[in-house]
Amino acid sequence: MSEAQQAARRNMPDYTLPFPGFDLAGKELSYDYCYGKIPPEDRSRIVKMAWDRGTAAAADIFKKYDGEGDFFIIAGRSGLSCEEVDKDYVMGNFRYFSDYLSGRKRIRLYIRSIALWAEQNKLDELTARNLILSHEYYHFLECTVLGLTSRLYQVPMLIAGPLKIGRTGIRALSEIGAHAFAHTYHNLRREGA
Ligand SMILES: [Zn+2]
Repeated sequence: MSEAQQAARRNMPDYTLPFPGFDLAGKELSYDYCYGKIPPEDRSRIVKMAWDRGTAAAADIFKKYDGEGDFFIIAGRSGLSCEEVDKDYVMGNFRYFSDYLSGRKRIRLYIRSIALWAEQNKLDELTARNLILSHEYYHFLECTVLGLTSRLYQVPMLIAGPLKIGRTGIRALSEIGAHAFAHTYHNLRREGA
């Protein structure tokens, strides 16, 4: 994966809600730069497809790790390292909370960014880090076992009159899957508690 793609992956939006639910997933799709190329009649279907993939993955991991609530433990057992970077990472109009470096099996958490997000959402910092980590863990699953959710649906790269050139996936679908994963895992924990 190129540096540009890696950079593009650092794209968890600055939501005011701690766990975007299904209602917000459609909005996430509208942020995608390919949104205009997705026929309107396909939009809700692909949002649901991505959401369902995240939900199913959460149920699998919950079972596999026996309801473990600490994603630092799950990450460690999965061979992933987590680096906590003491930084509020803001670039342009975005605040970045974390990223996943697929080639290096490493997740970086920007703990000052996360601390601000925690404060806004009245979460304690450890809970917030754990939630962000669960989001990134889904990207790790995509890269290692699930396949990229973004590739479940493709649009032409370029449309020029009658010509359609190339194919590209929809990156927002990976984000929707990751939100579904974090959201569902949290709910499963809460139900089990
Ligand atoms: Zn993400």
